[in-house]
Amino acid sequence: MDHAARLHAVRDALVGADVGAVLLGPGADLLWAAGFDAHVSERLTMLVVPASGEAILVVPELEEALARRAGVGELARIVAWDETTDPVALVDAHLGACGASASPLAIQDRIWTAFTLALQAALPSATWVPGSRIMAPLRLVKDAEEVTALRAVGAAIDQVHAQVPELLRPGRTEAEVAADIDALIREGHDATSFVIVASGPNGASPHHGSSDRVLTNGDAVVVDIGGTLDGYGSDETRNYCVGRVDPDYQALHDVLQDAQAAAMAAVAPGVTAHAIDAAARDVITAAGHGDHFIHRTGHGIGLDGHEEPWIVAGNEVEVRAGMAFSIEPGIYVPGVHGARIEDIVVVTDDGAESVNHRPRHVVVT
Ligand code: ZN
Ligand code: ZN
Ligand code: ZN
Repeated sequence: MDHAARLHAVRDALVGADVGAVLLGPGADLLWAAGFDAHVSERLTMLVVPASGEAILVVPELEEALARRAGVGELARIVAWDETTDPVALVDAHLGACGASASPLAIQDRIWTAFTLALQAALPSATWVPGSRIMAPLRLVKDAEEVTALRAVGAAIDQVHAQVPELLRPGRTEAEVAADIDALIREGHDATSFVIVASGPNGASPHHGSSDRVLTNGDAVVVDIGGTLDGYGSDETRNYCVGRVDPDYQALHDVLQDAQAAAMAAVAPGVTAHAIDAAARDVITAAGHGDHFIHRTGHGIGLDGHEEPWIVAGNEVEVRAGMAFSIEPGIYVPGVHGARIEDIVVVTDDGAESVNHRPRHVVVT
């Protein structure tokens, strides 16, 4: 879908929700709607899309050229402000001119509080709703180009995992391995988003990162890595054992692999997020590890690394063809070890397509 069509969809959503305008700062919403990967800073950049009336991009003068190069000028009027102008007043004036401020206003979920507070002060009688109420449903189902981008970035992270075994040698630290992985990610991506190398007991901390812990023979290592390519994110987790596999770990991993396969098999249009989570959780609970699966089964992914839909207990949203999300159950035994298997799937007309294709069993290095 081109950006003009996307902005049109935003306006339709505003009309449908009786919201006067949506205000978007730097981030994935703006990138999705207008193709502008804006700089996050203390200077206000804000795309103002009213339900009726012209869209404007309020942008610092020194970044006007970037906005024009991204093509925003074809979608919205660019209002560049200099260092002595109050940009919030420009937003306020435009909302007034469009008659938008009498209705609730939507503001992007992920925007600095300083901007929200300044807008609230400038518009004391306005009511505010989360921007996700407008934007999340629009971004939820990926179009064909987006699915192509997710496949490409999925293949790029597969390539990195293929090279991980040779990096995991006794005597190396997690941080050394993580630095090598970072460099490998950047070969096939535009940027690294995160690198988790969690060995031994650190594997029980799902968002560990890396540390100076030295790998030893027999360590289990959780490697969860991702980057971005053309804006879209990768996110893939596999488990490795240095030199040999401990039988207890193999047993735990067998349970996890069954759980992850069950959740992958459960994905189809019309199935609830709750049911997909339950498919993985039931296997883990039946094996006696229910208390060691301490997070949801997955999260949506696209221009944001974590976005809707949330694959979590209690979420009765039904997944639809084109939605993209992770399936990443984990089992974490505090003080001992942990494991997580993660693939990104795209819902198809009758099931799910994984964009990741690395083997899911424990790989002995
Ligand atoms: Zn991950
Ligand atoms: Zn993930
Ligand atoms: Zn357990």
